[in-house]
Amino acid sequence: MSRQLVAFSDLRTAAYCPRKCYYQRRQDQDDREPPPSVESIRALSSRYADLLEADLETLAEEPFALEPAAYQRRLETTRDRLQADGQWERLCDPEVRNTLLTGRDCRGIVHKVLADPLEPVLVSTGKPPEQGVWEPQSVQAVAAAKALGWEHETPIERAWLEYPAYGVIRSITLTTRRKARYRRALRTVRGMDGPPARTSNRSKCEHCEFADECGVRTRTLRSLLGFG
Ligand code: SF4
Repeated sequence: MSRQLVAFSDLRTAAYCPRKCYYQRRQDQDDREPPPSVESIRALSSRYADLLEADLETLAEEPFALEPAAYQRRLETTRDRLQADGQWERLCDPEVRNTLLTGRDCRGIVHKVLADPLEPVLVSTGKPPEQGVWEPQSVQAVAAAKALGWEHETPIERAWLEYPAYGVIRSITLTTRRKARYRRALRTVRGMDGPPARTSNRSKCEHCEFADECGVRTRTLRSLLGFG
């Protein structure tokens, strides 16, 4: 029997909230297309050299999350750190961009593939955490590394996350703990045959587009009114 290939994005969402993943998988594919702003932010990740050189006026229309001057300073810090580590050039000039990877268990798009050593890069349109990467993104990055490793029949030890709207680039190593979280998300998605329990971390529900369907908003209102 062939194995069900799980989308990287489903693993990321399942790591955030399995129930949200359930709702998302029921949506039409058309409704899951990213908005155009996503592409313009992702495109920043292929223009770092130009963005560092440009004068501030020409940067005014860029989809940065910071003022242009602050953005350039942040990106300079990122470049200096990664240059010292011998990583900057390979991140700016990857072997491959925007390619579909198919692994043993999962498949999806990676935004860059670096060579020597082989490593995947995911480009996030959002804000980075204070340190490291968000856990759902870590799960997605492990999935990407697993798929890349499967295609090339070689283990991958590291994956990268870029947050180009913020001028931040981070890497993660594939620790035992991270791989375990990835496997847990994979089991969750594969085992899903009805709506899973709601997340116990209700702060995650505040920006969830399925809050009404999930019943969280109604429940919160009932609680406020003293009926919950
Ligand atoms: S509203 Fe909360 S519990 Fe419901 S799907 Fe969204 S994140 Fe999960």
